[in-house]
Amino acid sequence: ISAEDFTAATLEHIHSVDEKLHAFLSVNDDAINQAREIDKKIKSGDKVGVCFGMPISIKDNMCIKNSKTTCASKMLENFVAPYDATVISKLKEQDAIFIGKANMDEFAMGLTTEFSAYGPSKNPWNVDCTPGGSSGGSAVSVSAFECVASLGSDTGGSVRNPASFCSAVGYKPTYGLISRYGLISYANSIEQIGPVTRTVKDTAFLLNMITGLDPNDNTTVDNKSEDYLSGIDSGVEGKKIGIIKEMMAEGTDPAVVSATKDAISKLEGLGAICEEVSLDMVKYSVAAYYTITATEAGSNLARYDNLRYGYDFSVEGYEFNSYIQKARKNFGPEVTRRMIIGGFVPSAGHAGKYFLKALKVKNKLTKEINDAFKKYDLLIAPTVPILPFKLGEKIDDPVALFLVDINTVTANLTGKPAISVPFAVSNGLPIGIQLLADSMNDKMLLQAAQALE
Ligand code: GLN
Repeated sequence: ISAEDFTAATLEHIHSVDEKLHAFLSVNDDAINQAREIDKKIKSGDKVGVCFGMPISIKDNMCIKNSKTTCASKMLENFVAPYDATVISKLKEQDAIFIGKANMDEFAMGLTTEFSAYGPSKNPWNVDCTPGGSSGGSAVSVSAFECVASLGSDTGGSVRNPASFCSAVGYKPTYGLISRYGLISYANSIEQIGPVTRTVKDTAFLLNMITGLDPNDNTTVDNKSEDYLSGIDSGVEGKKIGIIKEMMAEGTDPAVVSATKDAISKLEGLGAICEEVSLDMVKYSVAAYYTITATEAGSNLARYDNLRYGYDFSVEGYEFNSYIQKARKNFGPEVTRRMIIGGFVPSAGHAGKYFLKALKVKNKLTKEINDAFKKYDLLIAPTVPILPFKLGEKIDDPVALFLVDINTVTANLTGKPAISVPFAVSNGLPIGIQLLADSMNDKMLLQAAQALE
């Protein structure tokens, strides 16, 4: 099949299903021409990249030059990116086709896509349910075959959560493994771009393209051009795996508990040694996560002031306060909430009680997980403690929503790599299992995920 035919078929499929699923905020009309160019290159014997003709969707918080990048916000409704994110340039070099920009919660804050200013995405397994978030559009587009793979961003679970809810593989790499240059920041000290794919091997394949040092992001680490695909079938024989007690606490859905137990048995059957481990600080992790991320969001979102970025730049008739009020008006409810929290928790007189305490929890949790990795090669837990729930069910209860992140935020707060692998289905709804490894042990993590898949 030619790149053109495959792209045409993909676009046709998108046009037939996306009205219902709403995975995309925009579809790339030029994709066919790009595919045609690739076919021409092949015909004339020119070298083509290894992603040639692959339709990939991109979460709408990553910049693709000359394309709209909205972050699913009214604030950036008409923002056209002037440059490519590093991940985009790397995939362009390999002749990937960016088929469209994927729906998300506004500025990646949320976990259901219901905070998208353009309406939620729907779970392909049950359209009454949320696909998870914030990279919900990414997971839906992969799960519903609207592309072959997607890139999302994971600040506190936003790649792994929707992957789990939509039965896809979702990867949050070691902090620094993938450049964040061109990713619109939410909480930059802990977030990473990560692939959403249908198989673990596809994730390893994409990591081979997009990881590595980047002079434009000084938090990137040198992975010495690691090949994540080679040895992917090495298995888990002899690996020691800790089962995180606090991530199967009371309130975990019985179907999720039983899927996790089955996953543990499977790994044991393959020669792994599994036993329970306690990470005490997990119980404070959600509180610490939302304190730290709101603080960083407050600072990162200050640029949307209608002077540098915004939607209406006329200052006529306004003084400072009313101008700022007008500038902020186009943020949705969740972003507004985070900005208010983010202004309060690090402020003079309150920082010691909230922000500094949150940093202490982050440090203690990191110490605990580092100690665990002295004993265990990997850790295991359900990705999300509950099954995909109905759209609208938790939208008015922000704290209930925050708590759904209990199993995912630890990897972000500690910088560790983590993957969600589709493992079971209960009442027609997918359940993902999460594995974590120590920093820079991404390759071993992928091998274990491959064994579990
Ligand atoms: N639900 C979390 C939040 O709203 C995670 C979001 C993310 O990972 N981008 O902050």
